[in-house]
Amino acid sequence: MRKPFVAGNWKMNKTVEQAAVLVEELLAGMNAVPEVEKVLCPPFTSLMFLSAQLQDSDTGLGAQDLHWEASGAFTGAIAPAMVREFCKYVIIGHSERRAYFGETDETVNKKLKAALANGLIPIVCIGETLAEYEAGKTGEVVRRQVLNGFKEIDTSIASQIVVAYEPVWAIGTGKAATGEGANAVLYDHIRPALATLFGSAVTQNIRILYGGSVTSANAVEFFGQSEIDGALVGGASLKPAEFIKIVEAAKK
Ligand code: PEP
Repeated sequence: MRKPFVAGNWKMNKTVEQAAVLVEELLAGMNAVPEVEKVLCPPFTSLMFLSAQLQDSDTGLGAQDLHWEASGAFTGAIAPAMVREFCKYVIIGHSERRAYFGETDETVNKKLKAALANGLIPIVCIGETLAEYEAGKTGEVVRRQVLNGFKEIDTSIASQIVVAYEPVWAIGTGKAATGEGANAVLYDHIRPALATLFGSAVTQNIRILYGGSVTSANAVEFFGQSEIDGALVGGASLKPAEFIKIVEAAKK
């Protein structure tokens, strides 16, 4: 049985002062849904503050990225142990990092290994662009992203990985995939690719989220699908009432 999982990706939004207000508005509502594993992923600058705010709650904290090296001359980067000081989770390979910061399946793989080696739960994002979708290449793209991004991971720890299927054309566009369409990508391509690497028994324990314009209005449609175990939420995670409704909808 895979526990439902909802993560909010705040992206490059909220100062520490603003984060304090948002978390205050979110906490009671999220604490009321223990059946769902909940994670907030604010910018790095708010992690230390929010780790204290979340100490007595069952909502976890995640970073939006990490570097794979332990330390050194990597100006602007954050090492796994620095993330681990405050977080249990980390997002890896978000499409915005792939599009604007040169993230590749190879760097995703290095970050994934570093995250797992440091006891972090990685939320690894995969998904096709609009051009790939229109060319009918969705299956090929997500299979490649899984096979290359998740290679050389020890099967014994693979079930700790959370996968987020986020079609790039659905992120921040208000144009979500359909529940059935997303479920078919998980069923036909993502789980089989994971099973190639880790075997089908382990793969059955790996949570796969949908992400891309999830709102309280469409969340039920996604969470009602057999393969979808939750959501990675961007824009709607900055709206407290909306995000709480999405968390509630994940309680199957
Ligand atoms: C995201 O940032 O991962 C995301 C899915 O964004 P949005 O919900 O705004 O589409």
